[in-house]
Amino acid sequence: MKVFKGNKKTLPVRFCKYCNKPMTWRKKWEKCWDEVQYCSERCRQHAKRPLSRKDEHS
Ligand SMILES: [Zn+2]
Repeated sequence: MKVFKGNKKTLPVRFCKYCNKPMTWRKKWEKCWDEVQYCSERCRQHAKRPLSRKDEHS
C-alpha cells in the first residue's frame, strides 16, 4: 500500500512556525518530517533566538 501516489496534491503540508508559510513535504524531509517546523534554516535560526541580537547598535 503506497502512501504517496506520485500526486503532489496528496503530499502533506505544514505551516512554518516562524513565517507561517506553507511548506509542502519534500523528499529530503521524509525521515524527519515530524521534526520539520520551519520552512528554512533561516526561519529556524530566527525562531530559536528571537530578539536576541548581539548589540547591533552598540
Ligand atoms: Zn518560514
